[in-house]
Amino acid sequence: MAEYDFDLFTIGAGSGGVRASRMAASMGARVAVAEESRVGGTCVLRGCVPKKLMVMASHFAEDFADAAGFGWSVGPTSIDWPAFIATKDKELERLNGIYIRLLRDAGVTLVEGRAVVIDDNTVEVAGRRYTAHRILIATGGWPSLPQIPGIELAMTSNEILDLPQLPKRLAIVGGGYIAVEFAGIFAALGVAVTLVVRGDTLLRGFDQDLRTSLAEEMAKKGITILHETKVGSIERCAEGDLSLRIGGALETEAEDLRVDAVLYATGRKANTKGLGLPEIGVRLDETGAIVVDQFSRSAVESIYAVGDCTDRVNLTPVAIAEARCLVETLFNHNPTVMDYTGIPSAVFSQPPIGTVGLTEAEARKRYGEIDVYISRFRPMRHTLSGRDERTMMKLVVKRDDQTVVGCHMIGADSPEIVQGLAVALKCGATKAQFDATIGIHPTAAEEFVTMREKQPEPHAVAR
Ligand code: FAD
Repeated sequence: MAEYDFDLFTIGAGSGGVRASRMAASMGARVAVAEESRVGGTCVLRGCVPKKLMVMASHFAEDFADAAGFGWSVGPTSIDWPAFIATKDKELERLNGIYIRLLRDAGVTLVEGRAVVIDDNTVEVAGRRYTAHRILIATGGWPSLPQIPGIELAMTSNEILDLPQLPKRLAIVGGGYIAVEFAGIFAALGVAVTLVVRGDTLLRGFDQDLRTSLAEEMAKKGITILHETKVGSIERCAEGDLSLRIGGALETEAEDLRVDAVLYATGRKANTKGLGLPEIGVRLDETGAIVVDQFSRSAVESIYAVGDCTDRVNLTPVAIAEARCLVETLFNHNPTVMDYTGIPSAVFSQPPIGTVGLTEAEARKRYGEIDVYISRFRPMRHTLSGRDERTMMKLVVKRDDQTVVGCHMIGADSPEIVQGLAVALKCGATKAQFDATIGIHPTAAEEFVTMREKQPEPHAVAR
């Protein structure tokens, strides 16, 4: 491979790019990675990590209030928002430093700047050209905004993570996981949150019982949810606040929603614009995502892509796993196909959701006959705190062989609980094996091994 500068040139030092670069270098490959922003990517700097820190920061408000039920007098509480933003930024800087060090220690050459692909084996960064036997695109995704008048007044998830002051009133447009997570964060911090959703429920694609339960819990926390509502325009008012022109499903009675800030969380698109890909024959789909085969190879033999820029399953652990499979295939003589079944995921709403496997609707469609088990209860903590928050747990079981094919929970710690159960589902556990497992008492998690009553047929919730 001496005719090339590198064996692998990665574009994008985010979750997928960093993992692929480090792993390939550890197998002896000569690797470079280009990064136009900061090493770490969306998850570390603009996604999972800062978002989760914000969830934690906001949750203290409820924790302080709940403490009274256990005999504590907490006194008046308040958050110093700029102080929180500063400590959060310090932590992100620390993580950014760790990622840079990991790359350097692995012997990866870090090239700072925006990369474009020139041909099948050449990349250009800041006016300098590099050749490589293989090129990996790992450029992630970027928020996508509708082109409505005044959209420049809206924030995306990128900006809201650096918000200098807390607004009094916040509109969040969108009903996906990013929208509901930020709704929970800001509502807990005392901001009046209005969620503007185009469809009739939140979290399209999730199990219907989770969607319904989440909407109920969010309403209890004072979040206003406007379903089947669209925003036509945004204007800055003379008073300095923002006016959103909103209309119902039939777009008849348009009215104004006055807020101090607006967040658009209306989806993300693959970050492939201007990379020079279609020009050299890399195929993109209609949304701009790179079309790849099961080995993450694009339409050009020497060019590969992993992570959000391929729009398969847009989660950090998936980008990392795709990177691992790719490096096994290319540098370890071990062709490895990524397994997309049974990927667990979480929504860090308040309360949070953990989910793995098929929704009830998907299981019914795929298998016809299924058994459904549901448990709804008030968590032990709230028997004393007095908070009206309910936990919901659900198992979806294939009737013929009793395999558990779906496991869904909304309630405190559900992402932590469902991660473990994802292993059981991956192993093909049956309902009888769940039942034979001894619970840990007293926990919420033990409900998953003590659900005995099947839901009557047909299960009453809309599907
Ligand atoms: P990224 O991590 O986005 O990395 C791409 C990198 O490429 C970036 O650093 C970018 O600057 C760089 N780049 C782009 N173009 C170029 C170029 N031309 N030249 C040089 N560099 C370039 N996932 C979870 O699993 N759990 C969560 O809780 C979660 N929460 C999220 C919350 C938010 C608000 C958001 C936005 C995302 C969240 N995600 C979460 C998704 C997760 O962040 C992504 O799936 C993951 O980061 C994808 O990794 P990636 O390697 O594909 O791309």
